[in-house]
Amino acid sequence: MKATAFTVEKIPLIKPGDNIGQLIIERIDIKEHDIVIISSTVVSKSENRIRSICDIPVRERAKNIALRNNTEPGFVQAVLNESIEVLLESPFLLVSMKNGSICVNAGIDQSNVEGSDNILLLPEDPDESARKIKDSLFGLTGKKVSVIITDTNGRAFRIGQTGAAIGVAGIKAMRDWRGTCDLFGRILEVKNEGVADELACFANLMMGEGDGGTPVVVIRGLEMYHESYGIRELIRPENEDVIRKALRSLSA
Ligand code: GDP
Ligand code: MN
Ligand code: MN
Repeated sequence: MKATAFTVEKIPLIKPGDNIGQLIIERIDIKEHDIVIISSTVVSKSENRIRSICDIPVRERAKNIALRNNTEPGFVQAVLNESIEVLLESPFLLVSMKNGSICVNAGIDQSNVEGSDNILLLPEDPDESARKIKDSLFGLTGKKVSVIITDTNGRAFRIGQTGAAIGVAGIKAMRDWRGTCDLFGRILEVKNEGVADELACFANLMMGEGDGGTPVVVIRGLEMYHESYGIRELIRPENEDVIRKALRSLSA
């Protein structure tokens, strides 16, 4: 098996309203079934998800958490505003969000954002963002591609941040091996290979975290195109999530 991966060079600083699909096709030739992997940072900028920390009205709870965690109250309030459930308050905020993802600080970033008071929220609906970019690329080129939106996340149990898929379109986030054989003809029972995260990890490695200016990676040669979308498959159902239950019982 052989696949190639490359960064899309010379993408400008992204502003609200920028058409990311257009910026990509002006720089590379898209091929059928390419996997186009885009950092959430630039998707958020294009969707005008920048906020000034000074403009956020801060409530009492945020003030208390900020004091305990030694962070800014406006930042904490922004995290609370983006979350559905707080699973851990201290020493850092771990929250669940509308799309089901669970993430430290609701994925709100201050790096690679212009202006010292500005913060960047994640896209409101990353699956929908991925679908829109996929449709825009199809409209512009007639090519069907997969789109994965990524963020850099920390991990429970392991040190070392890695890429994670937060929104997908044109690909199944999970691969099911059940019913296929191992090397010795044994029928496999492996159900859940989180392919969207595997691809996000590699793309994140190529993007870098700093001033690379390379928020888009294309992986070519893997046949993963599928007319489906959504990251939900990767989210452990609440009733099976023993860690979420344990965190809830801690704060109860
Ligand atoms: P995140 O992982 O989605 O939070 O994004 P990062 O802040 O880690 O940035 C990922 C990559 O995108 C890095 O190579 C950044 O330099 C790049 N990047 C971030 N914002 C922009 C932008 O507005 N324009 C360009 N060209 N690159 C950006
Ligand atoms: Mn981020
Ligand atoms: Mn990153």
